[in-house]
Amino acid sequence: MKIDVLVCGGGCAGLGAALGAAREGAKVLLVERAPFAGGIVTAVGLPFMDGFACWHTGRLVVKGIALRLCERLGLAHPGAKQIEEIKTAVGGLTRHGSIALFNIDEFKLAADDALNEGGVRVLFHAVACETEVRTGRIEAVRVATKQGLLRIEPQVVIDASGDADVAAFSNCPLDPNPQRMPMTMHFRVGNVRYQPQTRTLAREAVKAAHEKGELPHYYGPGLCDAFAKDEAYVHAVRVPGDAIDPFDLTRAEMQGRRDAWTMWQVWKREVPGFEESYFIGSGPYIGVRETRRIAGAHVLSGEEIRARTDFDDAIATGSWYTDLHPNKATEGSAHPKEEKVVPPQPYDIPYRSIVARGVENLLVAGRCHSADRVAASSTRVTVTAMALGEAAGCAAALSVRSKQPVAALNGVQVRERLAAQGGGPFTYA
Ligand SMILES: Cc1cc2nc3c(=O)[nH]c(=O)nc-3n(C[C@H](O)[C@H](O)[C@H](O)COP(=O)(O)OP(=O)(O)OC[C@H]3O[C@@H](n4cnc5c(N)ncnc54)[C@H](O)[C@@H]3O)c2cc1C
Repeated sequence: MKIDVLVCGGGCAGLGAALGAAREGAKVLLVERAPFAGGIVTAVGLPFMDGFACWHTGRLVVKGIALRLCERLGLAHPGAKQIEEIKTAVGGLTRHGSIALFNIDEFKLAADDALNEGGVRVLFHAVACETEVRTGRIEAVRVATKQGLLRIEPQVVIDASGDADVAAFSNCPLDPNPQRMPMTMHFRVGNVRYQPQTRTLAREAVKAAHEKGELPHYYGPGLCDAFAKDEAYVHAVRVPGDAIDPFDLTRAEMQGRRDAWTMWQVWKREVPGFEESYFIGSGPYIGVRETRRIAGAHVLSGEEIRARTDFDDAIATGSWYTDLHPNKATEGSAHPKEEKVVPPQPYDIPYRSIVARGVENLLVAGRCHSADRVAASSTRVTVTAMALGEAAGCAAALSVRSKQPVAALNGVQVRERLAAQGGGPFTYA
């Protein structure tokens, strides 16, 4: 099969990439290992869309496809400039530049509709598993499906796998840092009757269970009623490991499920408000925060974010704080008590940080783009990932149209096209 742009992975970055490339007139195929798009939002059940706005002023710094999707869901309206103009399910969250989704399945439907209306060809249950690279160019990507391996011949590939799978299979340089943030299994509990002390007692019960050795790690716990007032959506399980090692990932899935169940049982046994509760479900996938990243044409650093470095080739704006989860139990929050959350001023993300080295037709978007650990802990959030995807999609289409290698494109050209479509970095708007 021949195609202009092949997008591998349909998470927030892949969605942005596929829609961004199709909008520019490219023929696009999106392959996704799950039966739906959305990545961590839908595969892990995460309602928080972070990175839309500046923490300090509330001004929207990402619009484009991310905002269009929220408009589709009735959460935003065209022309919104401030985060306060956007609806959110959780009181107060708008302060943090975020949108909370009301329903995960509604997001799946919105993604399906956007892809179908955008003219993107979609293949679910399909895993990109091999590349053929000749003279510095990906000639073909093999995708594992129920019919065996499909051989796709793309002009440009966008690796939005979260794990830089395509870049790794193509022997592109990768960030050598072996450190990994812990994984988290999210879960939901129904029929919770919240009382003033419920959250405090739940926290104490989890701490005691950890001290007795019933729970190896945890954080928070964050108990949130984002989906319904009588529900607990829980992000508190913490499983250190390496999701690139298939055996370790399997172990982590089992451990994550086990820990989620243990937490719920402890609460049902000990915490007023949970007596009549029931376990709705976990996952379906454990959430993976950090794996491989490319070492691309520019490695965005934590220092550049802090110093708010201007990049001539800026194609997206980041705004989230550097959110590095440690591999240990932390009480009350995701971070040790002595660490203060310091949200940055909105910062530039350069085009070169999505350009892989060593292969002339590969772009990388989302949490595996080129950044050091600290910078990536900020750029990894959902909305920033989607903005990076949108830029990658736009650049891929420009590359196809102009028959230039992706590295030969100028970030300014990409930014101008993004701006014409209502997206791109806010600093240049
Ligand atoms: C537990 C957890 C909690 C988080 N909390 C928040 C939060 O509160 N707010 C926030 O904004 N962000 C949060 N994040 C971060 C954010 O969700 C992700 O970093 C962001 O979604 C990254 O998007 P992505 O598209 O790059 O990657 P992913 O969402 O990981 O998407 C990658 C997609 O590629 C698919 N895929 C992988 N390999 C292949 C392959 N070889 N072939 C085909 N398909 C493949 C996967 O199935 C997946 O759909 C959280 C992350 C985790 C793990």
